[in-house]
Amino acid sequence: MNWLLGIAAGLLIAQLATLATTVYLHRGLTHRALTVHPAAALPLRFFLWISTGMRAREWVAVHRKHHAASDTPDDPHSPIVLGFWRVQLANAALYRRTARDGATVDTYARDLPPSRLDRWLFDRAWLGLAIGITLACLIFGWQTGLLVSVVHMVTYLMMSGAINAVGHTHGSRPHDNKATNGRVLALFTLGEGLHNNHHNAPQSARFSERFGEIDFGWWTVRLLSAVGLVKVRMRTRDRLTAPAS
Ligand SMILES: [Zn+2]
Ligand SMILES: [Zn+2]
Repeated sequence: MNWLLGIAAGLLIAQLATLATTVYLHRGLTHRALTVHPAAALPLRFFLWISTGMRAREWVAVHRKHHAASDTPDDPHSPIVLGFWRVQLANAALYRRTARDGATVDTYARDLPPSRLDRWLFDRAWLGLAIGITLACLIFGWQTGLLVSVVHMVTYLMMSGAINAVGHTHGSRPHDNKATNGRVLALFTLGEGLHNNHHNAPQSARFSERFGEIDFGWWTVRLLSAVGLVKVRMRTRDRLTAPAS
């Protein structure tokens, strides 16, 4: 087994999955801050399916509910209500519990009914994960491939947990909401750590607002936009300068 390769590849895949999550699932599907061209959307969905097993409409619904009920008992993953470590360590279980409660998806993701492709492929989480792990084993050999998969999963889950736990506990609050900005967290989570900015302007495709706030997700959006794969509908500056309606 090649430990160094396994850890490096696992960390890289976790970063790519986090990037796909922030650009496509979060800024795109959930908040409609940008639209993704079908030529990019399908590979992104496939990659998220084999790397995380997540159902897009469930992620969208749980996150919209989080914005609608932040840090109240209805928030699916509030560290203030549930405790910091429960959200940090059991974030995926909290998502799953809310997504399968029989009401959240119907209420918050009505615009994303399951397509035929969802029913056949993307709703089968374990099939996606099995394909992802098998691919890793074929590329790296089975031992290193399993290490890649474990490093990726643990890193991805811990980063997602940190956005929801740290991002509502530690950091600065330039805007009047309960979320926080963490510049170091933003580096590892590709802009998601600028969570106070995001709660202030959820419709913005850009999370960074000040000098020193690094939003790699936004840079990726700009790059995809330059080649025509993404269309930005709104970013912070548009919102701040838009006339009141
Ligand atoms: Zn939040
Ligand atoms: Zn959001």
